[in-house]
Amino acid sequence: MNTTESTPTPNFIRSIIEGDIQANKNDGRVVTRFPPEPNGYLHIGHAKSICLNFGLAAEHNGRCNLRFDDTDPSKESMEYVDSIQADVRWLGFSWGDNLFFASDYFEKLYQYAVELIRAGNAYVDSLSAEEIREFRGTLTEPGRNSPYRTRSVDENLDLFGRMRAGEFKGGAHVLRAKIDMASPNLLMRDPTLYRIRHTPHYRTGNTWCIYPMYDYTHCLSDSIEGITHSLCTLEFENNRPLYDWVLDELKTDCHPQQIEFARLNLSYTVLSKRKLVQLAEEGHVDGWDDPRMPTLSGLRRRGYTPESIRNFCDRIGVAKRDSMVDMALLEHSVREDLNKRAPRVMAVLKPLKVVIENYPEDREEMIEAVNNPEDAGMGTRMLPFSRVLYIEQEDFREDPPKKYFRLAPGREVRLRYAYFITCTRVVKDEKTGQVVELYCIYDPATKGGDAPDGRKVKATLHWVSAAHAITAEVRLYDRLFLNENPADKKESPDFKASLNPNSLEVLTDCRVEPGLAGAAPGSRYQFERLGYFCVDLKDASDNRLVFNRTVSLRDTWARIEKKQA
Ligand code: ATP
Ligand code: MG
Repeated sequence: MNTTESTPTPNFIRSIIEGDIQANKNDGRVVTRFPPEPNGYLHIGHAKSICLNFGLAAEHNGRCNLRFDDTDPSKESMEYVDSIQADVRWLGFSWGDNLFFASDYFEKLYQYAVELIRAGNAYVDSLSAEEIREFRGTLTEPGRNSPYRTRSVDENLDLFGRMRAGEFKGGAHVLRAKIDMASPNLLMRDPTLYRIRHTPHYRTGNTWCIYPMYDYTHCLSDSIEGITHSLCTLEFENNRPLYDWVLDELKTDCHPQQIEFARLNLSYTVLSKRKLVQLAEEGHVDGWDDPRMPTLSGLRRRGYTPESIRNFCDRIGVAKRDSMVDMALLEHSVREDLNKRAPRVMAVLKPLKVVIENYPEDREEMIEAVNNPEDAGMGTRMLPFSRVLYIEQEDFREDPPKKYFRLAPGREVRLRYAYFITCTRVVKDEKTGQVVELYCIYDPATKGGDAPDGRKVKATLHWVSAAHAITAEVRLYDRLFLNENPADKKESPDFKASLNPNSLEVLTDCRVEPGLAGAAPGSRYQFERLGYFCVDLKDASDNRLVFNRTVSLRDTWARIEKKQA
């Protein structure tokens, strides 16, 4: 497994772990876990957590478990379990035999709860949800004890057993930890440990009608699995005392250390399954794997490589303070990776017909083209050239503005790898006045792209031979949201208000060089001068070529970095 491309960047969690190893804490073992809830597809924020957990374990000869934190039956499903496993594997990580489900611990967790009740550390509360909220108090006001807080151990055991047996309706009772209703930490004011839910669970079916809460389940699952370092995002900082309380009161053999780090926020998108599920299910995008989505399946379909995502996660580092990462950095990472390995090809997105008047009608020749100037080992290929070609509509202006150096009437340009051509005549549509065809002459002496007399041209255009090119569909993407931080409630109460109505442009009449016939779904190319593209994983087939633009060639991040330097 290739998990680390280079020496790992130092961060505070790595320092803690290395200190623990030196002190021989946990006998020097490192066991981490990635604990997704199977209630949605993984996104790029999860990739940060995956790289961190699997990466740290691998670096220290430890192990990282994949554990499904599946204690809320209402939103979880096997579809999500499967997609999460596929995404973690695709990113390049492996959990070996260490696949776990919190739902497999339900019986153990129940027995632990019984133990808490026996020790007088938990009680069955029969206040309504509304009342529990009222009794909890606020940040400035202490809470009040529930009248049920003094129930006897026997009564609590009896009621909890009957909750499990299904004797009560949802909401009739909950099991709460008996901690401190006056604690300044609201999460320590007798938090709920179990609630009644008459909802079948995707794995345990109807076996259970009481379900353990996240805070109670998480620490115990970590402990059961012998986790040494339990890494989670900053919003769980206030939950740490509860994490420790449960394990301390139950005197578990293993008491992992919870360490919080800043979650990833990425500009112009949202990283929350609760929000992403709305985009996918309300039809704002074409499902979880829409190439505009920040999900791993979306990024994969967009053409991102696992290497580029791992490099991105390494670059952003791990800090203790929340921040917003520029989307341009993610794009920079994939550009950098694809620049090294994507073969260059010629593709014309909006074709304009060019007839080379002085090129014989029945002639065609093969022209040698370099596959990747970054990697001579990738060799060359032969491209057909003939009298009728297509160039990009944007590469011609009848009335060129200043600094427009591409083709114009009377002007000479280079066709990449081929010849110099000069535009001699423009054909327009009589009705619309639109330029529909150009007549040009070529200079046979410039074959290969250089003039023996040393004359220069200011532009090099990509092209395809009309008779040989194949038609393809190309999808161009723009950012999904117009706001840098769509989730910012100050901007709008509804994050969907800032969806970019022009985030997708579909071009159906593109022409690509013939060698792309039958290109396999998922294969990636640089279309010369246009960007990186990949064959769509879903909609492409043997007789239908569909490309998604991963990213354009323009590197805004490199410019930002230059400015900062
Ligand atoms: P979401 O808010 O998207 O639903 P979550 O935290 O509820 O995310 P989980 O399935 O519980 O989703 O997440 C699994 C792990 O991934 C957790 O340890 C969580 O802290 C981590 N994680 C989730 N989002 C991010 C993020 N944006 N950056 C870093 N880690 C994240
Ligand atoms: Mg969560």
